[in-house]
Amino acid sequence: MTTVILLGVFAVLLALQFLLLTSALWCLTPRLSTAVRSWGRCGLAAIALYVLAIPPTVANRLGEPNPGAPLVIVALMSIGLGIFALSRLLRMSPGKASLAWLAAMASSLPILAIVALGVRPFIFEAYAQSTNSMAPTVLGHHWTGTCPECGARTYCTAETDRQAMEDEPLMICEHELRAYKVALTSRRVTSGDRFFISKLLKPVRWDVVAYRYPAEP
Ligand SMILES: [Zn+2]
Repeated sequence: MTTVILLGVFAVLLALQFLLLTSALWCLTPRLSTAVRSWGRCGLAAIALYVLAIPPTVANRLGEPNPGAPLVIVALMSIGLGIFALSRLLRMSPGKASLAWLAAMASSLPILAIVALGVRPFIFEAYAQSTNSMAPTVLGHHWTGTCPECGARTYCTAETDRQAMEDEPLMICEHELRAYKVALTSRRVTSGDRFFISKLLKPVRWDVVAYRYPAEP
């Protein structure tokens, strides 16, 4: 049921954003373009902007924990192609297409407001785990190893400073829940868990719960 509500909220927000984006482009067309305005072309331009938003998202995810230069390059290319797509689809000069691109981005502000004021406080909150204090149940950025006792996976916090210091860090075994010194075979950093926190559910025994840090612990 929670999944259905989550998908429903996503679908409604996505549809609303698409409507806002298409309407923004439709309102702008007579001011910035000589082309006859059509809902079809504006919708197509909106879809192009959606598709072009995918590569930066992927680059960000693949580059974790430090996406750095590749993300900047992919994002700049995506913006350039977005402006190009608007200029071709809506028949505008590159300068006017840049203005239309900015307006298209601004049209998402009401969605951000709905998410910040409605969805996050009352329905769902997206969360990325930052530490390994709850490993192996919930993991932050980590290194993975193999348990010397039972062969199961082991985890520890990935730290760049540690590379020079320790070749056998203490890792927790996911099977025995005990810590062992494990020889690192790879220093590949795996990004932390991401999840949605539902604000609609009542917790029952064995549920993983998230709560705000109390003011006076
Ligand atoms: Zn083990």
